[in-house]
Amino acid sequence: MTRIAIIGCGIVGAALAYELSSHSDLEIHIIDQGDPAQGSTQAALGVLMGIISHKVKGRSWRLRRDSVERYKTLIPELEESLGRPIPHIQGLLSLCFDPEQLPRWQDLQEKRATQGYPLEIWSPDDLRQRCPQIDAQNVTAAIYSPQDGQVNPQQLTLALVEAAQQRGVIPHWQSPVLGLKTQSGACSQLQLPDENLDVDLVVISAGLDSADLSQIGPEPLPMIPVLGQALEIELEQPLGNDDFQPVINGHDINLVGLGDNRYWLGATVEFPPGGEAVELPLDVELVPDPEQLEQMRQLATGFCPALIKARILKHWSGLRPRPQGESAPVIKPLAGYENVILATGHYRNGVLLAPATAITVAELLGLTAAEKDENIEPEGGLETLDTNT
Ligand SMILES: Cc1cc2nc3c(=O)[nH]c(=O)nc-3n(C[C@H](O)[C@H](O)[C@H](O)COP(=O)(O)OP(=O)(O)OC[C@H]3O[C@@H](n4cnc5c(N)ncnc54)[C@H](O)[C@@H]3O)c2cc1C
Repeated sequence: MTRIAIIGCGIVGAALAYELSSHSDLEIHIIDQGDPAQGSTQAALGVLMGIISHKVKGRSWRLRRDSVERYKTLIPELEESLGRPIPHIQGLLSLCFDPEQLPRWQDLQEKRATQGYPLEIWSPDDLRQRCPQIDAQNVTAAIYSPQDGQVNPQQLTLALVEAAQQRGVIPHWQSPVLGLKTQSGACSQLQLPDENLDVDLVVISAGLDSADLSQIGPEPLPMIPVLGQALEIELEQPLGNDDFQPVINGHDINLVGLGDNRYWLGATVEFPPGGEAVELPLDVELVPDPEQLEQMRQLATGFCPALIKARILKHWSGLRPRPQGESAPVIKPLAGYENVILATGHYRNGVLLAPATAITVAELLGLTAAEKDENIEPEGGLETLDTNT
């Protein structure tokens, strides 16, 4: 029996634990310093922008495509094994306000058609009919992706963990990994507060804290926190047509229906002082900027005027783990170690990319054969970082 330890139980660690638990020759331990579904995951809106993303080649597209495909089976699979629904939304509508951007969307529509993923491009009149809550006056077009959508990140994470435990995964909550004992290019033991856990394999999926844990290697992974604020709001009446409630994205802001006239609205993207080139470690605490929150609210009200009457039920913020100098996410062996894998740095798309991350880690561990996909064009150069959610 091979013993594998997964450090961190956000959406990424939970997806890993569940997927790996289908291999009966593994003894899987999942470890978190707190409870599951905290960290960045507790702040996420769970918007899944795979098909509608402008990534069309290489690893960036493969990860998105694999996640979209896995989500089609994963949610029903979990709902069946746990006997409860996992709140999710099918369909995502992105508003295009700039006529110069329309050809880009048309190119994407063409490309996705060849890849087998239809996108619809609606005129402002189509939009008025399908989504009367949107002020179509300044909209050039609306792009509808039936295969994207949203899933509740916390409920999905908890469901993955519960289903993984049913398949034998051993949890260690309130149990920070205090150190990794290493010996000639391998990690042999994790130091936990109450025990030392012998391990054969380790996956580091500790979000922002993966940066610290990766210090055992000669090439640690620097990461910066990018703050996001979001709101839960309530209206007197539901928005739009009852029978058509996709996620709506305008100006990079998502409006996510929760039922009972409640919605999530988010999120801001706030870099630390110094921006992308910030010096690490950070010597300042990141504080949510009220002006950016207000700007987000105003932009959303601009395309959905009924939001002006919204009552704010909840306001929160979280930190996205953004790798520095590398494309997000980072899924690879930790340099200098034969048995430690990094599965982290998912920045703005951790919920979207968690299923594909789990598939990639299983391939790296040699548990499943890596799929050769001649239909995917190579990306070339350093992939640009995500700008979706
Ligand atoms: C406001 C906001 C909105 C977002 N919206 C979306 C969205 O719509 N769609 C989307 O796909 N993504 C979204 N994201 C991004 C997404 O939240 C992250 O990419 C994702 O949650 C990262 O998951 P993770 O499991 O890697 O990390 P985390 O969720 O941060 O989990 C890491 C875990 O590791 C644990 N840990 C750390 N150190 C240790 C240690 N030493 N020992 C044991 N445990 C440890 C922590 O306690 C934590 O539970 C959003 C993020 C924010 C902030």
